[in-house]
Amino acid sequence: MKLILFGAPGVGKGTQAKILATQYKIRHISTGDILRQAIKDGTQLGIKAQRFMDVGNLVPDEVIIGVVREGLAKPIYQNGFILDGFPRTLPQAEDLDKIFRTLNFKLPFVLNIYVDESIIISRLSDRYSCKNCSKVFSHKLDGVTINDKCISCGGDLFQREDDKQEAVTRRLQVYRDLTEPVKNYYQKQNLLYDVDGDGEIAVVQKRITELLNKLIFDENK
Ligand code: AMP
Repeated sequence: MKLILFGAPGVGKGTQAKILATQYKIRHISTGDILRQAIKDGTQLGIKAQRFMDVGNLVPDEVIIGVVREGLAKPIYQNGFILDGFPRTLPQAEDLDKIFRTLNFKLPFVLNIYVDESIIISRLSDRYSCKNCSKVFSHKLDGVTINDKCISCGGDLFQREDDKQEAVTRRLQVYRDLTEPVKNYYQKQNLLYDVDGDGEIAVVQKRITELLNKLIFDENK
């Protein structure tokens, strides 16, 4: 299964993608994670990306498309994957189509996870990430604060630069201006399915699983 998880920052794409990757035994590709790792490793990609990311802007299309094109060509992605955070602009979506054609991939399912903007803002400003394993925690739900250690691996927690208020506002603006049109692009191709992202993680996960199982069933009929 080739799956694209679509939605504004903070709707829960990353959290759900990790669960679904285990459940369906397919790879999870998060362009945000790839870029954050590149920054941590101090690679050329990381150096190029950081100044855009820190303020909540998108990194240039040509930079990120190259990363995805190279990644998806690897044999491990042949059987399936979940794309989380890509495509985020129309040129990215068009290039992804080309990549799919070149690699002879079946058309993807595109899940649009939606939640109210007020929930997004409160989720992002409440979010702490582990420096070591990148796991994400919520102050409200997990009771963690900046001085705590990661519950999974004991690493230090921090608040992502782009989860700070100014950057969150900018990210939502960028989403409305550049990413939302991508929804229309997939809608026109009848590839887009809406999922309500409000509620507990397990509840949203159940909604997604029920939808995906139905889509897989219909496809195999
Ligand atoms: P995310 O973790 O998906 O919210 O991504 C964090 C940041 O990485 C975004 O705000 C962008 O600066 C950058 N980024 C991730 N994916 C993309 C993409 N497909 N296109 C451009 N920039 C991206």
